[in-house]
Amino acid sequence: MSIDHRLSDEHEHLRATVAKFARDVIAPKIGEFYEQGEFPYEIVREMGRMGLFGLPFPEEYGGMGGDYFALGLALEELARVDSSVAITLEAGVSLGAMPVFRFGTEEQKRTWLPKLCSGEMLGAFGLTEPECGSDAGGTRTTARLDEASGEWVINGTKCFITNSGTDITGLVTVTAVTGRKEDGKPRISSIIVPSGTPGFTLSKKYSKVGWNASDTRELSFDDCRVPAANLLGEEGRGYAQFLRILDEGRVAISALATGLAQGCVDESLTYAQSRQAFGRPIGANQAIQFKIADMEMRAHTARLAWRDAAARLVHGEPFKKEAALAKLYSSEVAVTNAREATQIHGGYGFMNEYPVARMWRDSKILEIGEGTSEVQRMLIARELGLVG
Ligand SMILES: Cc1cc2nc3c(=O)[nH]c(=O)nc-3n(C[C@H](O)[C@H](O)[C@H](O)COP(=O)(O)OP(=O)(O)OC[C@H]3O[C@@H](n4cnc5c(N)ncnc54)[C@H](O)[C@@H]3O)c2cc1C
Repeated sequence: MSIDHRLSDEHEHLRATVAKFARDVIAPKIGEFYEQGEFPYEIVREMGRMGLFGLPFPEEYGGMGGDYFALGLALEELARVDSSVAITLEAGVSLGAMPVFRFGTEEQKRTWLPKLCSGEMLGAFGLTEPECGSDAGGTRTTARLDEASGEWVINGTKCFITNSGTDITGLVTVTAVTGRKEDGKPRISSIIVPSGTPGFTLSKKYSKVGWNASDTRELSFDDCRVPAANLLGEEGRGYAQFLRILDEGRVAISALATGLAQGCVDESLTYAQSRQAFGRPIGANQAIQFKIADMEMRAHTARLAWRDAAARLVHGEPFKKEAALAKLYSSEVAVTNAREATQIHGGYGFMNEYPVARMWRDSKILEIGEGTSEVQRMLIARELGLVG
């Protein structure tokens, strides 16, 4: 048995490379994109060239041959500086490409994965609808197989879909009701809809509180037709598929949340040592020192939680409970650290030009997206054997 807290040389190299990229390339530019609400194409292209979008996929599909742990390391270092680019990567990999990799036919994988892995193309996953999010089994979007033409005919609306409307978005996988079981419950399936398919329209970008340099849209499907072969995996298995995708996605969101929490420590440390009040740095006051010590404690513990869940995932062990624990803990920690970091920055913390202001705005969604904190608590309680 080996016990080791250190990263492998390969993982450490990746972590350090992404950290440098985030510091040198993203940090100086991202504030401007964020303020304008613009998608940072050049930065995303560069992340593609670095291989980040292909991290957990095999080389035969254009990936880097890494694993989910590697993805988590990259997400943490990106979010330490900026969450918009981190969520673009997270959604592109775990919601866009992963369903194709996990459930696609060989032909679907060969068609889509090389471009998704290189970052030339972004993928999205459309589960949430205006009237159902947490209760995603309540999907109202329908897909009917038109036997005559051999096409799915999709009707419905999806909302809040990340990466769905950029210039480089190539596909959205949508969940839709494709029939009813004997007990009347819906049969949900996942279907790949290529961007630009007639009948598939995008709304303009939402005005969001945070993640302002990422792309989030409402999607409408009005007799949208795609070939029968665009079904992802088996008909009626869509519910089980997205549960798996969300379990994995929670590990990734947890790594991202940890990065934000750590970024708050980084910014606060620098500021506390330079800002003077009453003739000395504010960091000389124990009240500020204790705030930062607690922030570091929370970021460290969140890191242990996501790495534990990721290690279980990579080793093929059950990880559902650990993913929910990590997501719940790290997202709440991110919100707390962002609030404390803003407080340490005083009035400057309320100015958008300071990274902590961006982190504050970006933190709240972490308690909502890919399963709210309440949903995580429900999952943990269920895993502990409590039934409601
Ligand atoms: C910026 C952004 C990006 C997103 N990206 C994507 C994406 O790419 N793809 C996608 O499919 N979705 C995406 N989402 C949607 C997101 O996953 C949902 O918003 C989230 O799952 C919550 O669903 P809801 O908004 O419908 O809230 P609801 O499910 O309506 O919940 C409202 C409140 O009720 C609580 N609640 C609900 N049920 C219970 C219960 N049984 N017990 C206790 N409390 C309960 C919730 O926890 C929450 O506090 C995104 C959302 C945002 C804001």
